[in-house]
Amino acid sequence: MYDLLVIGGGAAGLSAALAARERGAKVALLGKCFPPRSQSSMAQGGINAVLGGEGDSVQEHIADTLRSAHTLADEARVRRLCERAPEAIAWLDRIGTPFSRTADGKIAQRRLGGARGDRACYAQDYTGLKILHTLYDRALKEAIEFLDEHFLLNFVVEEGRVLGVTAIEMADGEVRAIGAKSVVVATGGYAGLYRGFTTNSSATTGDGVAAAIRAGCILSDMEFVQFHPTALRGSGVLISESARGAGGRLLNGSGERFVDELKPRDEVAAAIWEQLEGGEEVYLDIRHLGEAFIDEHLPQERKLAILYEGVDPVRDPLPIKPVAHYTMGGIEVDDAHMTKVAGLFAAGECANAHIHGANRLGGNSLLETVVFGREAGENAVEFARENGSLGSISSLRFEKDRNFVAAVGRFTNQIDFYAKRDFMGKLFYRNVGILRNETGLKGVLSAVRQMQKELPFMGIADKSRTFNTNLFEFIEFGNMLELAETVLVGAIGRNESRGAHRREDFPRENDEKFGGVHSLAWKEAGTLCNRFGGMR
Ligand SMILES: Cc1cc2nc3c(=O)[nH]c(=O)nc-3n(C[C@H](O)[C@H](O)[C@H](O)COP(=O)(O)OP(=O)(O)OC[C@H]3O[C@@H](n4cnc5c(N)ncnc54)[C@H](O)[C@@H]3O)c2cc1C
Repeated sequence: MYDLLVIGGGAAGLSAALAARERGAKVALLGKCFPPRSQSSMAQGGINAVLGGEGDSVQEHIADTLRSAHTLADEARVRRLCERAPEAIAWLDRIGTPFSRTADGKIAQRRLGGARGDRACYAQDYTGLKILHTLYDRALKEAIEFLDEHFLLNFVVEEGRVLGVTAIEMADGEVRAIGAKSVVVATGGYAGLYRGFTTNSSATTGDGVAAAIRAGCILSDMEFVQFHPTALRGSGVLISESARGAGGRLLNGSGERFVDELKPRDEVAAAIWEQLEGGEEVYLDIRHLGEAFIDEHLPQERKLAILYEGVDPVRDPLPIKPVAHYTMGGIEVDDAHMTKVAGLFAAGECANAHIHGANRLGGNSLLETVVFGREAGENAVEFARENGSLGSISSLRFEKDRNFVAAVGRFTNQIDFYAKRDFMGKLFYRNVGILRNETGLKGVLSAVRQMQKELPFMGIADKSRTFNTNLFEFIEFGNMLELAETVLVGAIGRNESRGAHRREDFPRENDEKFGGVHSLAWKEAGTLCNRFGGMR
């Protein structure tokens, strides 16, 4: 029996697993892909921490984070995150993260949008990749058991306490029950709902968040989805904020600048959207930075632009559009990162730890994965030690999940779920995107509910058991539909504009009704319930 089972091998999951191992716990880490392939590897711009440079302070970091959150962050937790940031960077540095350096050997820092200081530590524009690889290298040296290519289905919960999970072993299609005294879920966000219009990897389908609401957890603030201002127009591939941080300019088709490029993301994305809706093209221009600077500081951006858009940013401005990038909502957790289910903790993008509120600041998410990921791992081990094991997993959940997987093979497959998945991505981008209104949101809600009814008429064409991606993508689609409903219900109920949630029909922030108020969603007997209120 594991003391701790971590679900997800991104920066949050690996940080949790490492912290638990440092406390001598028996730890396993389960994931649907190899850890270095997790989406954390795509992070480019940097990880925030005030390291004592001139013109910045921890107080400013806290203030910037709170301002960007538009009253939906918890000040004490933001304070804890920002105060622990320098220690987190020192730890990452110590275990070997190859941060870029200044001429005098200090960790180099750059300014990202919404920050009043140069506080994002970076490794060229490969920050997430370098951090993730360093964490994974470290984890391989520890006695952590890796259950790679295992697909989480559900959490096993009895009498309000987590006992483990059910998962499919992807190599042979077997459903397994895995017991643990505590579980940390770190499965990433749900921006995959905007398929075709997101910077996220196709694996970011919110599986852990959907499993959490089915297990009795509360989800909160699901309507808050951040749109990154500068994705390549054709592919949606991200061009990092570090390009604007370095002096990149946003231009319309007439070559005019129309917004302060370093404003918070919600404001820059909305300004670009307005231009695009008005029939303008929008470009990111970094030519004036020069080839030597671009190759030194933004090498990945140049490669991505050439590869995905056929444009070399050294010579031409990059055509861009805003796309879904980060999901602020997620699994509601308490100060110890525990969900409503005892022993089940959540960290990273799948959790809502009330740090980012209505709009995340660039560089704060990687920080959260490391600081809160480690805290979640420590607290989970403590929980396991204090509460022990409740014995083996009863067969009920396991039988249910095994029967479900077998039944999917018999679904009629009359409706192509891949076409529905693409359709939902388009619907979400147009109607649950940067600018929303009640008619559009309600229309998408009824389309989503219709798709939920049609699921048994969808299904899979491939009936094989070995690495059946058709099956996993179908299960992911079911999770996406489950979460789509929670996003829509939250967005319809929030009759105001706040941060990343902009309503054409309610263009003002309504502090009287919604200031500090969170949308909460949970399930009762399989039915979605929701209300607006304070934290639990
Ligand atoms: C292009 C891009 C650039 C970014 N740049 C920055 C930046 O510069 N700075 C910053 O702070 N943030 C940045 N972000 C955001 C940040 O990278 C993410 O929020 C963060 O890395 C999420 O880490 P995580 O560990 O929570 O999840 P992830 O890294 O997404 O890992 C999730 C893990 O869960 C596993 N998993 C998912 N579902 C299942 C399942 N059903 N069964 C088993 N395992 C499962 C996955 O395989 C994966 O291992 C960026 C994001 C993107 C997309």
